[in-house]
Amino acid sequence: MIKIALDGPSGAGKSTVAKAVAKRLSIVYVDTGALYRSIGLFIKRLGIDKSDKESIISQLKNIELSLQFKEGVQSVILNGEDVSGLIRTGEIAMYASAVSAIPEVRAFLLDTQRDIAHKNSVIMDGRDIGTVILPDAEVKIFMIASPEARAKRRYLELIEKGEGCTYEGVLADIIERDKNDSTRAVAPAIPAEDAIFLDNSDLDIEGTVNKALEIIFSKVGAEDIK
Ligand code: C5P
Repeated sequence: MIKIALDGPSGAGKSTVAKAVAKRLSIVYVDTGALYRSIGLFIKRLGIDKSDKESIISQLKNIELSLQFKEGVQSVILNGEDVSGLIRTGEIAMYASAVSAIPEVRAFLLDTQRDIAHKNSVIMDGRDIGTVILPDAEVKIFMIASPEARAKRRYLELIEKGEGCTYEGVLADIIERDKNDSTRAVAPAIPAEDAIFLDNSDLDIEGTVNKALEIIFSKVGAEDIK
């Protein structure tokens, strides 16, 4: 069994790369952002303000969240409902960023994440996987790209999905989320001491996947992976 932690800021391409690496190595890809997004969706549906910490904390007892995996595809189940398709909007990302700064929310999601890594070989994508969730991961990668490179990719993705947005708006959201995520008091999105940086500002997806595999195989042998 192997645990690979893949952390880094929003829009660095972690999910695309993690999915490809998981497929290549036949291990499970875990997108932990989906858990924070689902709590964000729950709070939004109740009409609770993103900054109303007390109300958010008091709602945690009403939330049951789990991740399911079928043929390598993750679904997130919120109180029995598959919300995987509903959490991929810019608005929910901002809710996720707000709820993720609350220590009680992070504690609430800790065991769900650790349990999956305990039962499977995983590549887990998040912000604090190498520092908090899986500090004993065999491989820790911190993936970065310039805000402009990330905004351009996200903008093209959203346009393709038919979501109305501007490049400037996407860039401003990315800068704001980076700031929230890296300056929060609890589990800031910072690299673990033993993380290896992967800057993909000038790499395409294939180049980034190859670089990630290179890093992984510099740390573990193929025989460790199953
Ligand atoms: O990765 P994704 O964009 O889906 O994450 C949404 C938000 O959830 C991020 O902006 C971040 O604030 C939060 N998050 C987190 N820790 C994780 C994964 C996501 O704080 N492990």
